[in-house]
Amino acid sequence: MDTPTNVTIKGILGILMSNIDEEKKKRVISLGMGDPTAYSCFTTTHVVQDTVVENLESQKFNGYAPTVGLPQTRKAISEYLSMNLPYQLSPDDVYITAGCTQAIEVAISILAKPNANILVPKPGFPIYELCAAFRNVEIRHFDLLPDKGWEVDLEAVDALTDENTVAIVIINPGNPCGNVYSYQHLKKIAETAKKHKILVIADEVYGHLAFGENPFVPMGVFGSMVPVLTLGSLSKRWLVPGWRLGWFVTTDPNGFFKNTKNVQRLKKYFDICGGPATFIQAAVPRILEDTKEVFFTRTLGILKQTSDICLKKIKEIPCLSCPQKPQGAMAMMAKLNVSLLKDISDDIDFCFKLAKEESVILLPGLTVGLKDWVRITFAAEPSSLEEALDRVKSFYQRHSYQQKVQIDL
Ligand SMILES: *Cc1c(COP(=O)(O)O)cnc(C)c1O
Repeated sequence: MDTPTNVTIKGILGILMSNIDEEKKKRVISLGMGDPTAYSCFTTTHVVQDTVVENLESQKFNGYAPTVGLPQTRKAISEYLSMNLPYQLSPDDVYITAGCTQAIEVAISILAKPNANILVPKPGFPIYELCAAFRNVEIRHFDLLPDKGWEVDLEAVDALTDENTVAIVIINPGNPCGNVYSYQHLKKIAETAKKHKILVIADEVYGHLAFGENPFVPMGVFGSMVPVLTLGSLSKRWLVPGWRLGWFVTTDPNGFFKNTKNVQRLKKYFDICGGPATFIQAAVPRILEDTKEVFFTRTLGILKQTSDICLKKIKEIPCLSCPQKPQGAMAMMAKLNVSLLKDISDDIDFCFKLAKEESVILLPGLTVGLKDWVRITFAAEPSSLEEALDRVKSFYQRHSYQQKVQIDL
């Protein structure tokens, strides 16, 4: 495995935070973690909160829910997802999970068998590696291509796949790259998966969070060609990651994956899962139905604005470059040119010194599989983002060879 499975994003961010020099008395700005709720411009909408409060006060939802989730919740999610599909999902296709994280865990556990391997993107989301390590599933990385909109290197997928490959993971809209794949590219991915007779695990936790050229197309659109396991949650689109409401969905209208044996295994697996609180599950039908379009439009507007700020500011920092304008999700990757810096050895060193000197947290690219890149979360208050990147700029100026040359002149 070429990414560190012993370091999680939360782990490395903790170390970076502890490295901050308190004496500097600079306000800490974290662009490291994907939790937008740290910023007041990313608050959820009233109807979402009110529904949960009403459910709680009704005292009707203090008991256990069925392990696969409340029937009305499964039905609401099946209808929500079917709106963007050429066929209708059944409530039985939907299993309620504790966030998308647990949906990932379910997917990998269900597919685990001796010698199995799963293809995951690089850069990617380290939870996949971590889950696979616990389940003794081998991980094989295919590259996302920075100069091609972070599209999947399909030739690499062909080369990596063998008879023990069970699935390919596609994160769209993408974390950490901010990619939103075109219909055509998703179709090619589906064709490749079909050719190799493997499943697609579609991580759509950022579903509909697309603010660029390409509209969001769910992988399930190709579910008749290749079985898709669709993973999602309320966390990102509704800005409630702490509520732990997610879903695992068999988007498989032809029943390639959904045979009796797999469905029974899934149901049994859910007996040991323990999903989200019943009163939160019960709120889902109204949340999906009553959230006003303006709430989504507003979030997308802010993300568009903040991603533009990032691009603009990065252009002013010579050691950073961004090959691809983000089109969705909440983070982007910037390439770090350490050869312009006189005393920085790599991305980890850069992020540590930046935290210490400027109280700004960026995530070292190595934690998502790319050395000498950094991940910047742009789901932040515009003013904080500007200030943070201005500090990165002065950090660059202090550490660059350029400055020395200028002084000598
Ligand atoms: C945030 C995130 C998750 C986890 O979602 P939760 O609902 O908070 O568990 C999964 N996959 C990706 C790519 C994410 O960015």
